[in-house]
Amino acid sequence: MSDSTHYQIVIVGGGTAGMTVAAQLRELENPPDVAIIEPSDTHYYQPIWTLVGAGVFDREISERPMAEFIPEGATWIQEAAVTFQPDDNTVVTDEDTTVSYDYLVVAPGLQLDWEALPGLAEAIDDPDSGVVSNYSYEYCEDTWEEMQALQPGDRALFTQPSTPIKCGGAPQKIMYLTADHLQERGILDDVSVEFYTPGTVIFGVEEFARTLRKVVDRYGIDVNLYSELTEVRPDRNEAVIQATGGDGAPGEQVVSYDMMHVTPPQSAPDVIKESPLSNEEGWVDVHKHTLQHTTYDNVFSLGDACSTPNAKTGAAVRKQAPTLVHNMMQHMRTGTIAEPKEYHGYASCPLVTGYGKLVMAEFDYDNEPDPSFPFDTTQERYSMYALKAYGLPQMYWHGMLRGRA
Ligand code: FAD
Repeated sequence: MSDSTHYQIVIVGGGTAGMTVAAQLRELENPPDVAIIEPSDTHYYQPIWTLVGAGVFDREISERPMAEFIPEGATWIQEAAVTFQPDDNTVVTDEDTTVSYDYLVVAPGLQLDWEALPGLAEAIDDPDSGVVSNYSYEYCEDTWEEMQALQPGDRALFTQPSTPIKCGGAPQKIMYLTADHLQERGILDDVSVEFYTPGTVIFGVEEFARTLRKVVDRYGIDVNLYSELTEVRPDRNEAVIQATGGDGAPGEQVVSYDMMHVTPPQSAPDVIKESPLSNEEGWVDVHKHTLQHTTYDNVFSLGDACSTPNAKTGAAVRKQAPTLVHNMMQHMRTGTIAEPKEYHGYASCPLVTGYGKLVMAEFDYDNEPDPSFPFDTTQERYSMYALKAYGLPQMYWHGMLRGRA
C-alpha cells in the first residue's frame, strides 16, 4: 500500500535516542507534531545485558512494549525507513509509505556485523559452539550458561573489534565478571582468562585505565593489546587473532578456546551508509557540538548512528537529546541557530569490575574526566554498581523515556 503523510518532525528510530527526543519534544509548551518511524514492537534497555550475561538478571528485565513509550500525541509509524530523500524532505519506508517532514531526526542506532568475520555468524547461532555475546537480546543469556560450564584447564577469551562499538567498556566488563565468578568457585587460577583487543591501551582515559590495570592484575588476566579477532573456526574451537601493531607481535596466531565472548564488528546501518546523509565512514554527518547535519539544515542526528566522536552510549544520548531539541526548535522558530546549546562529548561507561564493584568512567571528547559525583569515581565502588544495576534502569524507563531526565 502506498501512502503519503506530512509531519513537522519525523524521528527515524524509537530506541534510546529517538524516544528520548520524542518525549522531550512532546513535553514542550507548544509541542510540535511528531511521527516516529520504528518497526519493532519491543524497546530494549541494552546496558543491562551485561548483567544478564553474568547471571544477575533474566533478559526479560531489559524489554518493554514499544507502545508504552510512544508519547501522547505522537504518531507511531510501525515500519522501517529504507530510503532517505533529504532534497525532497521525505523518507520512504519498507511498506512504501512516503513520509514528508519539516525537520528530520535520524536515530536508527548501529548495526552488528556478524557476517564481517568468517565463521562468526555460524558460531554465534550455534548454542553449543562456546561462542557467546552480550551484544544482543537473543544471545546474552548464553554467556551465563558458558560461564558456569567453565572447568579447570579451560581457556576463556574475550574479544573487541577495531570498529567503533557501542559501550566501549562492555567487552571487558563481562570478562571481569567472569573472572570474579571463577574466583568465587575457587578455580580462577586454573582457567586462562584472555583479552584480545586492537586497542593500544586498556582504556582511553588514563585515570580509569590505572584502576583497570590493577583489576587485571588482581584477576591474573592475560591482556593482549594490538590483537584483533579475524576468524572463528567453530568446528575446531579456534580463534584466529591478527596482530595490528606493537612490538614483536606475531602476524597471526591461532588460539583455542572453551568459551569466547565476542564483541562483533559494528557499523552504521546500511540504509544510512547508502543515503546522502552519511559521511565517508557511513555515519550520519553532523556538527559535533550542535548535532545539526553538515549539509541539510533541517536534519539532526544523535545516538549510535551519528558521526560525533564520543563513546557511543545511552549516557551520551542523555546529554545529546536536550542539545538537539534546543537547537532544532530554535532553527524551526528563527531559521538559524544563533544561540546554540553545545554538546561536548559527554559519555559514561559504568565499568563493572566484579559482582558488586564498578568504576564509573565519565569523560568528554578530549578524554578528560567529566564526573557527575562529588567523590573519586576512579575507584571501584559498590554504590556505583548498585546505581547501574538498580538506579539507572529506573531512571531510564521513568525519567529519560518520559522526557524528564
Ligand atoms: P538503539 O537504542 O539501538 O535504537 C535504535 C532503534 O532504531 C531501534 O529501536 C531499532 O529498531 C530502530 N531502527 C533500526 N533501523 C531502523 C530503520 N531503518 N527505520 C526505523 N527504525 C530503525 N550505554 C550506556 O550508557 N551505559 C552502559 O552501561 C551501556 N552498556 C551497554 C552494554 C551492551 C552489551 C550494549 C549492547 C550496549 C550498551 N550501552 C550502554 C549502549 C546503549 O545501549 C546505546 O548506546 C544506545 O541504546 C544507543 O541509542 P540509539 O537510540 O542510538 O540506538
